Formats: sequence, C-alpha cells, structure tokens
Amino acid sequence: AAQSFSEVPLRAAQGTASLSYAAAKRFDELPISQYTKDGLKEADFVTLTAIQRAALPQALCGRDILGAAKTGSGKTLAFLIPALEKLYRLHWSRLDGLGALVISPTRELALQIFDELTKVGKRHDFSAGLLIGGKKVKEEQERVNGMTILICTPGRLLQHMDETPGFDCSKLEVLVLDEADRILDMGFSASVNAIIRNLPKHRQTMLFSATQTKSVKDLARLSLKDPEYIAVHAEA
Ligand code: ADP
Ligand code: MG
Repeated sequence: AAQSFSEVPLRAAQGTASLSYAAAKRFDELPISQYTKDGLKEADFVTLTAIQRAALPQALCGRDILGAAKTGSGKTLAFLIPALEKLYRLHWSRLDGLGALVISPTRELALQIFDELTKVGKRHDFSAGLLIGGKKVKEEQERVNGMTILICTPGRLLQHMDETPGFDCSKLEVLVLDEADRILDMGFSASVNAIIRNLPKHRQTMLFSATQTKSVKDLARLSLKDPEYIAVHAEA
C-alpha cells in the first residue's frame, strides 16, 4: 500500500551548525554561483519554497536526497540548482560531455523541467537536451553526444544507451529520478534498473516521489547512498 513520507524524520530541519545557510529564505542567500543567481532572478524566482528550503542545503553539500512533497511545491528547482552547481564547481565545460541526467515519467513533465532549466541555467556555459521520443531517433542521435545535461523519459534514454554510437555516460556526476512512483507505475522499472547499471557508481543521486511504495523503496535502495530523507507536506 502507498505510504506517505510524512513519517520519515525530517533531518534537514535539525539545524546543522556547518550549514550556516540552512535557514536561507531567499535564493540570493544561498552559496551558489552568480550565474545561477542571475538566472533565478531573471526568471523572477526570489523566495524558496518549503521543499527547496529543506532540500537545497543538503543537496548543495553533495548529499543524496530522497524527497517527497506534493505537486506544485517546487521540486524541479530543488534538483536543478544542485545539478547546475555541482557541474559549475567542477569547472565542467561543453567539452566534458554528459554531467547530469534527469529522468522523468512523461514527455510533458520532461518538457516542463527542460523549460525551467533553460531559464535558470541560461547564464551557464552548458548545453541541455531533451530525449523524450516523438522525433526520429536518428535526428536525436546527431545532437545527443556532448550534451551537458539531458532530460529524458526512461525508454528513450535506454534506446540511446543501446543504439547511439559514442553515447557516453561514464563521467556522469548527477542523476535525478523525478516522480519515481509514476516512473514505476508506468512500467519503467526494468528500464530504470538497466539505466542505473550503465551509470558510474560515484555520483550524486536525487530521487523524488509523492508516495513511498515498496517499489520506490527498492529503487531508492538501488540508486541512493546514505540519503537525506526530506518530506514536506504543507507550505510553511
Ligand atoms: P513540483 O515538481 O513539486 O510539482 P514545480 O517544480 O513544477 O513543482 O513547480 C511548480 C511551479 O512553481 C512552477 O511553475 C515553478 O516555476 C514555480 N516555482 C517553483 N519554485 C518557485 C519559487 N521558489 N518561487 C516562485 N515560483 C516557484
Ligand atoms: Mg515535478
């Protein structure tokens, strides 16, 4: 049966002394690059939502995240900002290839994530691509290699892993599994497991799910290392 994350302890709220910015309420108070701050400002993002306040301090430290919050609570920025910052801090360039991968259950959601990424990431010198099907694989194949950040649906990503010459995930630093419960409900469990087997083990992983089913727990166990559990159910 579906069980909510609300029973999971909210460790992020237990104020850690080393996280001096753990109480940040505005994006300009976070220890993030000026590029990301400018992107956020230009898109009129000023104040953090509850899930962003809980997740960003942990995720910006490189921790794995197992997160839950209702639809519309701002989970996208809770993973896009740490992904951008991780690559920025590593001095990632367009020549370094694939650094971050976001897996989404549907094309529509992937497109929304991509739109948000092109806004907040627009000052960074990264390239971003969408792999969601609907176009000819061949057309995607010509452009997919060398992308810094890819937003994908599971089936299409696996197809590129299997069929696209030179598709290289070996340097991946950040994996995001967004709406993990829906990914699994839609029957992508085997695809996601196969994708994870193709990825380097040393990476940061953030998994978001509205519900904590047995299959989500299994996926969390398989993909996360010592995760920070973060659940936010009401806007504070
Ligand atoms: P979720 O993934 O939790 O359903 P989204 O990340 O899609 O939520 O965010 C929902 C809406 O709120 C989007 O339109 C997004 O641009 C907006 N949003 C997210 N974070 C903020 C914020 N800090 N301030 C204002 N709007 C925000
Ligand atoms: Mg979302």
